[in-house]
Parts: sequence; structure tokens; C-alpha cells
Amino acid sequence: MRTFEYEALPGRVVFGVGSLARLPAEIDRLAATRVFVVTDPITKGIAERAVEDLGDRFAGMFTDIELHVPIDGAERAREAAQQGGADCVVTIGGGSTTGYGKVVALRSEIPLVAVPTTYAGSEMTPIYGITSGGLKRTDRDLRVLPRVVLYDPALTVSLPTSATGPSGMNAMAHCVEALYARERNPISSIVAEEGIRALAKGIPGSIRDPQDLDARAEALYGAYLAGSALAVVGMALHHRICHVLGGTYGLPHGDVNAVVLPHAARFNADAAPEAMVVIESALGVADAPGGLFDLAESIGAPTSLRALGMDEAYLDEVARLSVEPPPWNPRAVDAASIRALLDDAFHGRRPATGAQVAVAEPAGGGDAAG
Ligand code: NAD
Repeated sequence: MRTFEYEALPGRVVFGVGSLARLPAEIDRLAATRVFVVTDPITKGIAERAVEDLGDRFAGMFTDIELHVPIDGAERAREAAQQGGADCVVTIGGGSTTGYGKVVALRSEIPLVAVPTTYAGSEMTPIYGITSGGLKRTDRDLRVLPRVVLYDPALTVSLPTSATGPSGMNAMAHCVEALYARERNPISSIVAEEGIRALAKGIPGSIRDPQDLDARAEALYGAYLAGSALAVVGMALHHRICHVLGGTYGLPHGDVNAVVLPHAARFNADAAPEAMVVIESALGVADAPGGLFDLAESIGAPTSLRALGMDEAYLDEVARLSVEPPPWNPRAVDAASIRALLDDAFHGRRPATGAQVAVAEPAGGGDAAG
């Protein structure tokens, strides 16, 4: 018998090529008069176009974005917004930029409008992260959920292939973990499955031809769905490991997602067989973990922690931090099994097609992590 709980989130989405030009009208809808813009040095060129359209509503800009939202930097952004008398914050950039805007919105209690330029998906969620003392912590608060999201595929054509692939795998990870999340529900699962299909088409197309607006639109649509699924469920082991590798060791979020996802899927495959069937159908592959690895490889995303410059000597500590405290996960986690997963991820081994083997074997036959 079906039972589920689902709490839909508010928020307005405008999707389509050229939607950045809608920003002034959306600001008017919010009745805001002082707009503080958060962007990074690379996306600043896009933001300056928006600033021109805002005219005298522009209340200042913050561009000093660092990875993983260090607490001091977020506070500097909030102070700058306050000095400008801002009654609205607009982020134009990737997940790092959105992350700063969320903290400004939370602490200043002003609405957030997000214009994402990567596939991170943060713009759809009430989740925010702050890094302090070398640890990245995330929390949920409806005040950080953007009131409006403008998705403009034209803004993503400049995203280099070195960022497109990993960012796409970050979105893919939201869909994969949403399918076996504890809080999953029929709606989040449909959204996640459609997200995988869109990303599996849009990301390779965007890598083949970065200027292909159809492929970019499909990828951004997939990222929107991925963020929407992430927003209403909790994540699991994969995201915990990525937050340790990013927050404590400074590795780029998209890159670690690309490397870790196939191994996290392998780790959870036996405990989440229905999710694996959905992933396999959406990707058009026979084995979900192997298919995810092949996708990452085919789009030129990194497939090993070694290639990211990770020092193997820290893997014991990564394993320990990943289970302190243990995240919710469909399969119980402990430091020894995470260490084994990290070994596969470090060396970039393609996950073995082990789920079927483990199921077919008698008890004690093992639930191989790679
Ligand atoms: P990012 O924002 O750091 O962007 C990656 C790089 O791409 C940057 O150098 C940026 O300047 C560049 N870039 C962005 N858009 C570009 C464009 N259109 N053209 C050219 N270059 C462009 O990284 P990200 O992967 O987008 O986001 C990662 C961050 O988002 C992490 O901190 C992660 O934890 C967070 N995140 C949060 C949530 C949430 O719900 N809170 C969800 C997903 C990710």
C-alpha cells in the first residue's frame, strides 16, 4: 500500500533563452527598490548586463566568491548588502555564488532572486552551506529559498567543458540520491528520473558543442529538476563524502561529485535496487554504477581522486569524517567500508557490476564495494 509525505515548496521559475532580460520585471513583482548583486569574477560580465537594466535600483555588487562559502566571506557580503540599503539580493553565477546570496538573504531577511549559470541546482533548494573551522555544515531554512529563479540557457554557453561535465555530474548526483532518499515520494522520484534523462542527453550534447543552445537548455532543465528533487528530500552518503572532500580538503564540488557518484551508487546498489532500475532505464544502461562511471568518463569529467590532486594519506581521515556522525543512508555506513569505497575512487576503478552477483550469492557472499 502506498504511503508518503510530500511538502511542496513555493517559488517562481522562468525558463528560456533570454530570460535574464526579465530581471527588472521580476524585481518589480517583488516590489523591491534596492538590488544587491552577488556574482563571481568570471560571471561578472553577465551580471554587468543585468546591472545596466536595473538602473538606479542597483545597490552594489559583491564578487569576492570563494569555494564552499567561508563564514567570514559570507559576513562581508552581508555587510556590503546592508551598506547598500538592499531590500533584495540577486545572485548571478554558480552554486558558490548562490550560496553567498543565500546567507545574505537569511541574515538580512530580504528576498533572493537566483540566476544560475551552472548545473549545481542550489537555486531550487532551501539548503545553505557555510564552512567554518575547516568543516562544511549545511542546514535548511525557507528564508534562503529563492523567490524567483531565472533559467537562461544562453548564460551557460560560456561554461567551459572542464566545468560543464563535473557540474552536470553534481546534478546527476542529486537525482541519484533523491531516488533512494529516506524522504523520497512519488513526485520527487518522477522529477529525479526525468532529471537523469535530461542530463544524460543535455550534458554530452553540451560537451560536444558548448554553443548548442538545445543541448544547453536540456542540461539546464535537468539541473532544475535535479535541484527540485534535492530540495524536498535529504541526501545520503554520496553528499556527505563530497562535503568532506570539498569543505575540509578544498576540492571542487563538481569534480568530487563526478568521481564519487559511481562508487556511492555501487555501495548502495544492493540496498536500493528499485532506484538502480530507474537509473538504468533513464540512462539506458545495464548497470547503474558502471553506467554513471562511463558517463563521467565520456564527458571528460574526472574519475579519480588522484587526478584531483588528493593525497592518498588523507583517505583514512576522509573516511572517519564521513561517518562522524554517520549520515542517513540506505545501507549502513562505517569508516572501514567508506575507506574501501574511497580506495576505488582514489584509483578511479570502474565499479564492478556487483549488485546482481551479491544478490545471487548465498548469505555471506559479500556486498562488494567495487
Ligand atoms: P562554482 O559556483 O564554484 O562555479 C564553478 C566555476 O564555474 C567557477 O569558476 C565559476 O566562475 C565558473 N562559472 C560559473 N558559471 C559560468 C559560466 N556561465 N561561464 C563560465 N564560467 C562559469 O561551482 P558550482 O559547481 O556551480 O557550485 C558548487 C557549490 O554549490 C558548492 O559549494 C556546493 O556545495 C553548492 N551547492 C549547494 C546546493 C544547495 O542546495 N545548497 C546544491 C548544489 C550545490
